[in-house]
Amino acid sequence: AQVVQAEFVKSSVRTEDCPSDGLPEFALVGRSNVGKSSLLNSLVRRKKLALTSKKPGKTQCINHFRINDSWYLVDLPGYGYAAAPQELRIDWHKFTKDYFLNRSTLVSVFLLIDASIPVKPIDLEYASWLGQNQIPMTLIFTKCDKRKKKKNGGKRPEENVQDFQELIRDFFQTVPPWIMTSSVTNQGRDEILLHMSQLRNY
Ligand code: GDP
Repeated sequence: AQVVQAEFVKSSVRTEDCPSDGLPEFALVGRSNVGKSSLLNSLVRRKKLALTSKKPGKTQCINHFRINDSWYLVDLPGYGYAAAPQELRIDWHKFTKDYFLNRSTLVSVFLLIDASIPVKPIDLEYASWLGQNQIPMTLIFTKCDKRKKKKNGGKRPEENVQDFQELIRDFFQTVPPWIMTSSVTNQGRDEILLHMSQLRNY
């Protein structure tokens, strides 16, 4: 399940402009600063692949990376820059929602959640939106290497993960598959790649 080849293919702003070769794909999405680029780089074992999608003008695009010439990792714009009062409003970037609802080769959305901080209502809202729209989802908890800090509510990553899972039980009959990760220690990398290969059936 390892990545032997990874290449940036294209940036798109409309679902219709995404690659049309029919290869299966997995989309990474989460709050800004959740550690999405770091995870992407960790998955492909390259320090700079995700830089492509951090270039000005590309962070607001659907960025396709072809892996082993047989499937795609897709980097989507982050959410949650909005200030507190607006935080509870679902506001996917305008084309992200269309992508989720209409991209037929999308196998699963990998929703990234920062495990080093207490549960954010906005993350629960996005998770529940995906659930309500029956979009297959995997929860990826990031920054699991971080130690607890007083200013973070004094909880360990494991406790924040547990809190999140308890809270989404209100929205889901069963908790979606979930993986704990760290881009610092590479915890969870092999598990993610294995999970993706199982979802692809090869
Ligand atoms: P993005 O905005 O979601 O692409 O997030 P980045 O990958 O740029 O990471 C945001 C910040 O979190 C950076 O300062 C990273 O160094 C840090 N970070 C990302 N992943 C991890 C992780 O697994 N562990 C720790 N301790 N820090 C991380």
